[in-house]
Amino acid sequence: MSVNRLDLVRSSFEKKALSTGPFDGKVSDIFGELVFDRAKMRKYLDPDTLSALLECIEGGGQLDRRTADEVAKGMKEWALSHGVTHVTHWFQPLTDGTAEKHETLIDYDGKGGVIERFDGSSLVQQEPDASSFPNGGIRATFEARGYTAWDPTSPVFIQEDTLCIPTIFVSYTGEALDYKTPFKRALKAVCEAALPICRLFDPKVKKVYCYLGMEQEYFLVDEALYASRTDLMITGRTLLGHMSSKNQQLDDHYFGAIPTRVAAFMRDLEIAAFRLGIPVKTRHNEVAPNQFELAPIYGEANLSNDQNQILMNLMNTIARKHSFVVLLHEKPFEGINGSGKHNNWSLGTDTGVPLLAPGKDARSNLQFMIFLVNSLAAVQKHNALLKASIASAGNEHRLGGNEAPPAIVSAFLGRTMTGVLRKLLELPSGTPVEIAGKKGRKVDLLEIPEIFLDNTDRNRTSPFAFTGNRFEFRAVGSSANCAGAMTVLNAAVADQLVAYKAALDRELAAGKEFDVAVMDSLKPIIASVVDVICFDGNGYSEEWVREAARRGLDTRTCVPELISAYTAPESIEMFARTGVFSERELEARNDVKWDTYSKKIQIESLVLSRMSVNHIIPAALEYKSRLLQGLKLNQDVFGNLDGCSAERRLVEEISSLVETISARVDAMQEAGKAAKAEPDSFRRALAYSRIVQDMTALRKPIDRLEELVDNRIWPLPKYRELLFIS
Ligand code: ADP
Ligand code: MG
Repeated sequence: MSVNRLDLVRSSFEKKALSTGPFDGKVSDIFGELVFDRAKMRKYLDPDTLSALLECIEGGGQLDRRTADEVAKGMKEWALSHGVTHVTHWFQPLTDGTAEKHETLIDYDGKGGVIERFDGSSLVQQEPDASSFPNGGIRATFEARGYTAWDPTSPVFIQEDTLCIPTIFVSYTGEALDYKTPFKRALKAVCEAALPICRLFDPKVKKVYCYLGMEQEYFLVDEALYASRTDLMITGRTLLGHMSSKNQQLDDHYFGAIPTRVAAFMRDLEIAAFRLGIPVKTRHNEVAPNQFELAPIYGEANLSNDQNQILMNLMNTIARKHSFVVLLHEKPFEGINGSGKHNNWSLGTDTGVPLLAPGKDARSNLQFMIFLVNSLAAVQKHNALLKASIASAGNEHRLGGNEAPPAIVSAFLGRTMTGVLRKLLELPSGTPVEIAGKKGRKVDLLEIPEIFLDNTDRNRTSPFAFTGNRFEFRAVGSSANCAGAMTVLNAAVADQLVAYKAALDRELAAGKEFDVAVMDSLKPIIASVVDVICFDGNGYSEEWVREAARRGLDTRTCVPELISAYTAPESIEMFARTGVFSERELEARNDVKWDTYSKKIQIESLVLSRMSVNHIIPAALEYKSRLLQGLKLNQDVFGNLDGCSAERRLVEEISSLVETISARVDAMQEAGKAAKAEPDSFRRALAYSRIVQDMTALRKPIDRLEELVDNRIWPLPKYRELLFIS
């Protein structure tokens, strides 16, 4: 059965917004109802169990067997009241997305019937029979055991009929096989490194938290059109397609009115998110047509990241209900903006002091300067590694293109803060420095204006931008698990804070006043960062690439090469010092990354070959044959081909394009065979990275054909149809 593309387009236009029905009640009434949060803990657990569990959550201790059984009992009671029949350990292996293996709650009751059973041991640990998750050789099949272990800091939640328990996933020998394990190690490292510094300012501080807020960008396309694009279905992006005449040039989509069908989807999504305790705050149209963004309120980083994973799953399922498909790929369409996920990152104390925001008085500003400057130093030292943390086959198409962010990691501070740093450098050593927080006070000294939070100038081209009370790491891809990037950032900052504290202690031991010691230990760091990692100019310019190379920043763009930054000596040492990754883990994970990269490109190139041969060439030949029939008729009727030069030129151009396509498909297939045969995973990935260029070259004649061939014959939905139907 062949479906006509134009019929599909017509049917897509006819789709109306699904009415989601009125939502009676308040959001606060449904917020978190599917999460086993503190309120439910208080209701379903006895006081002893509750306090043991809270201590474990807050203090990071271990649950004893009896308490675990009691917690499981309470959870089961709560889950049954929601009609739950299954339970799963929910984890984040090194694939795209999350993994779960559902088990029913039933067990024989010993009396010939069944009962619901859920005890502490099934809550705390499981052994997923899953040797097929990527592990980079850490888990050879003869010791195929991997364990999932409950992460009590992220609450248990209900999805459909299943109780989901967030877990880490580790090998029999304790090595990380997932995103969550190293992320939690990095969070522990950064909080422990920050704590002794904070306690110098306030001995009452007991804990430091890392906060994360993500801005999730995505595209929506009509389900029927999606289903007729093999490339979108299989690879998540269009491998061919000519730009539509109108795309984002008019900037008329950004913050525009949200189309009705999209608004209905967003509303359903938000309600589902609220019920799962995800504090979705903003929604709006993005720059590209059919591109949108959603951002929850920031929260503790581990929880925020779990929620982002849940949210991406929800987006996929809820979009389908509205006959949409969500594209989370970083670059679904050529020629218009791709999608990212800004990671808004900050640190704060349990006493409520934000560590990356200017304070109200001189003392808190001194603390702020410590965290600001050391964050910059960490980013500078590990700029290549940070880029590696966001490098993927999908994000490769987005980075370095003329859209945020460029393929060089630099930091943007804005005029005010850069000015403060430069002024600090000019002060002679030993000068007591007071960085006032309020305009008008201590004018003779340094000053961070109070309005600072609102007036941070925005530099859209910076991958790591200070925005008043946080840094925004903007290079993260829209489909990424942010734990990847956040593990690197937090580990690097932890390592830097430890080194700084040691330097500060040396100054204090030399008998200097506290403020002077802080400044004297900060100044060399400021001097080293202010003209290297800090860059307030245009990150898209050619000069910046040269200038960045001169400054010693990493300017590479080849993804397989970038990935090797994880096993550079300075990275291995940093991860060992912070306890985030062992060298073996790093090597294994690089293997997984290279392999994933190779496989993705292998799939893309196979899809593109087949589409070229099965869709494009036949359509071109059909049109060519129609043109030739017309020419023949003309010859038969008039005895000549006068006035047919346009058709003749068309036939010639189509013939030559088909020749080119066919030759490029053959060449790409040969290159694919050679790449596949390469045994070393790094060199294999390098070989596949060259195939990306073959795909770009193959696409050009195809996109030209799309311009030439009769619209009624063209078999695939075009950009203008994919991008403007909602
Ligand atoms: P913008 O588009 O201006 O960057 P948004 O409101 O879309 O702002 O998103 C900003 C994100 O940053 C939100 O998730 C917000 O909760 C988060 N955020 C705000 N302050 C902090 C902070 N101190 N630490 C971490 N994240 C923060
Ligand atoms: Mg932002």
